[in-house]
Amino acid sequence: MSEQKTSCIFCKIANGTIPCYKVYEDNEVIAFLDVNPSSRGHTLVLPKEHFSSMVTCPKNLLDHVMEVAQLIAQAQIAQLGASGANVITNIGEKAGQTIPHFHVHVIPRYEKDGILLQLPTSKLNEQDVKLIVDSIQKGI
Ligand code: 5GP
Ligand code: ZN
Repeated sequence: MSEQKTSCIFCKIANGTIPCYKVYEDNEVIAFLDVNPSSRGHTLVLPKEHFSSMVTCPKNLLDHVMEVAQLIAQAQIAQLGASGANVITNIGEKAGQTIPHFHVHVIPRYEKDGILLQLPTSKLNEQDVKLIVDSIQKGI
């Protein structure tokens, strides 16, 4: 039995209450066009069951979502003439997540599409490296 959040817009899309431009569906996963696309063919891939973000999604389902994201990216390249794609998932409000139902953006990229995905860079703090590595390894 899937968990459904009555207030969640992506749960409503997944169960058919709210319409979408669907490009893929199976028992666990759905993919549809983003209503405000960053580029032509911008698609969202998500589990039908509600998980707030990638970090709380069970591994098997996450694998499945990523398999579908791969299919979508392949189709965007083969059929829409994209030269590549950005595959992004935002985790938490601070990271830009606006809909708290795990989803992956598959954003096809085209020559001169004007999209700027520029992350700031800094120098790795050598004094902090050991602590960073140890902390991450401890959490795995
Ligand atoms: P986030 O910012 O959470 O990573 O991405 C949410 C995405 O969902 C945004 O790109 C936004 O345009 C899209 N979106 C929000 N509401 C709807 C909707 O009702 N239908 C569709 N198809 N996309 C939506
Ligand atoms: Zn939901």
